[in-house]
Amino acid sequence: MDKIKECVNCGAAISAEDAECPYCHYMQYDAAEARYMDTLESMNDSMGSLDRNTRKIARKDIVKSVLITLAAAAVFAGIGSLSGIVHEKTDSYYYGEKSRIVKGLDWYDANADALDKAYEDKDFAGIYKIINADSKGPYYSILHNWEHYDIYQIYTGSYDRFEQYMTDEDRDGQYVFETLYRNAISTLEIEYKKDSAASKLYARCSDDEKKIVDGWLANVKKFLKDDAGLTEEQCRADYNDLYSSGYMDYSKSSEYAQKYYNAKGGTQ
Ligand SMILES: [Zn+2]
Repeated sequence: MDKIKECVNCGAAISAEDAECPYCHYMQYDAAEARYMDTLESMNDSMGSLDRNTRKIARKDIVKSVLITLAAAAVFAGIGSLSGIVHEKTDSYYYGEKSRIVKGLDWYDANADALDKAYEDKDFAGIYKIINADSKGPYYSILHNWEHYDIYQIYTGSYDRFEQYMTDEDRDGQYVFETLYRNAISTLEIEYKKDSAASKLYARCSDDEKKIVDGWLANVKKFLKDDAGLTEEQCRADYNDLYSSGYMDYSKSSEYAQKYYNAKGGTQ
C-alpha cells in the first residue's frame, strides 16, 4: 500500500488507489475516476487493431457514457453529503452503474485479443464461448464497440444452430434434420427480407465479413438443395409461407421438414 488516505465514509485507513473502501464498500470518487480513466486508456491500446475511424467512434462513445455516469455520481455525491437518505439510494445506484461499465471495460480489455484471434480463425463458435464464459457478462454495451460484433450477431441469429447441427454425428436423424431445415430457412432472411435486422447488420459488414456471411448462405442453400431436395424457388416459397405472420410458424416448419425428410427416404 503506497499512499494512505481516509475513507470518506467510515474513516478507515485505506490505499489512495482504492476505488472502493474495503471495509464499508463506499465508493472513493477520486480514486474511482482515476481508475476508470486508466482503464479507458488501456482499452484504447487494445483497440489498436481497429481502423482509425472505428477506434475514434468507439472511444468517443465509451468516454461519453463513462463521463456522463461520473458527472451524475459527482452531483449525487454532493447531494448525498447534505441528505443521508438521498445519499444512500443514489450512491448505490450510480456505483452499480459505474461498476458495470468498468467491469465491461475490464472484460473487453482481457478478451479483445482472444476475440480478434477467434475471428481471424473464423471460429464463431469460439467467439460465442468467449462472450458467454463469464457468468456476470456478457457485456453487450462494450461488445458493441468490437469491430466484428455485427457479423457475430448475424451468426447467433440462426446460423450458429445450423453449423452446430451440421457437425452432429446423428445428422440423419429426423430431429436433427428438422432443426437444420428450420435454421437454414431462418438464415435465408438475410437474403430474402431486405428490411430485417439481419439484413441491416449485413449491410454494415465489411467486404471480408460479407464474404463469410455469403459462405454461410451457400452452406444453408446446399443443405436445402442436396439434403432437403428443394429448388431455390421452393426455398423462397417456404420462407414466405413460414414467415407469413412475421414470426416463424414452428409447427408448420416441423410439418414441412417431416415431409422432406420422408421424401428423401428417412425413417421415423
Ligand atoms: Zn469505509
